[in-house]
Formats: sequence, C-alpha cells, structure tokens
Amino acid sequence: MLSPYDCALMQTSTLPDLIKPIKHARQGLILKGMFPLERMTRLTSDAFSSDGVVEVDMVFTKDTEGYSILKGEVKTCVQLQCQRCLKGTGVSVELDLSLAFVTQESRIKQVPSIYEPVLLESEEISLVELLEDELILALPIMAYHSDCEAYQYRTDKQLEAEKASKKKRDNPFDVLKQLKGDE
Ligand SMILES: [Zn+2]
Repeated sequence: MLSPYDCALMQTSTLPDLIKPIKHARQGLILKGMFPLERMTRLTSDAFSSDGVVEVDMVFTKDTEGYSILKGEVKTCVQLQCQRCLKGTGVSVELDLSLAFVTQESRIKQVPSIYEPVLLESEEISLVELLEDELILALPIMAYHSDCEAYQYRTDKQLEAEKASKKKRDNPFDVLKQLKGDE
C-alpha cells in the first residue's frame, strides 16, 4: 500500500477527462495512467484527507455480442478516519471492473451477468465520475488500523496546551498568508 506521502508525489495525469465509450470500444482504446484523488470530490468529502492518486489500467473492447466494454483495474488508497484512534488510516481499494455500456434503459436487463451495466445518458461521459461511483461502492463504511490505541478524551487543560503548541507550528504559514495578502 502507498503511504499518503508517496501518493501525493505522483500527481501526473495522462487520462482524458471525458470518454466516449461506444466510440472508444470500436477503437480499442487503452486507458492507462493516474489522476489525483482530490478530483473525486464526492469520494474524498468524507475522507480524512484527499491526498493520493487513482491508478487506472483499463481497455475498451467490443465483445462478440457487440457490447461496448471497459474492463481492467482501478487502484487507489483513501485516507479514512480510524474509528478507534481518530487518526487517518490508508484503505486500499483495488477494483477489477467489467463495465458494459448501453444507450437505452430497456437494454440494461439484457446485459450478460459477467458485466456491470452502465447506462449512457450522452455519448460523452466523465471518466472521473464513472470510476468515482465504482470506488464509492467499494469503500468500507468504517475503517480501523490493525493496531492502535483508542483515542483519549482530553481535559480542558490538555486541550489548551495542544492548541497553544499547534498555533506555534502554524505560525510560518500565517506569515506566508500575510505576505500574500500584502501583495
Ligand atoms: Zn487507529
């Protein structure tokens, strides 16, 4: 599994924003690359942080029955809040997808069960949103470290001391902010 730091270092995107599944299936287009996890705003809204990347290794094909298929792997690690110690914990998600695109709702039922049907409402759709839907379904509702100490509720005094030390740490950024504001 990637640490959040490693994830943040690899923010290169070679993938298209929009895909045309029916056309790409005819072309046999390969989708291989990665994009920053922070582009999946619905997925990361409840996450501990939006650091990380989504790796995509997929290919469009047409099967013998003429279905337009997108299949392959989608991998990421999402920082969720550990429900025991309340710190971030990386949760790996690896999906093996076989999506079959249909253009009419009535055809969803006919799609062979080895595929997951996806109804296209237009010729062109967002790749990020398509994969985000799949990842949201695959994420666990609760996350825990395999080994961690339960969060200790602090007294008011301890909280004040923590706040004071946090303020000190934040100081360099405050200075930067002021500098920017003065421009
Ligand atoms: Zn924990």
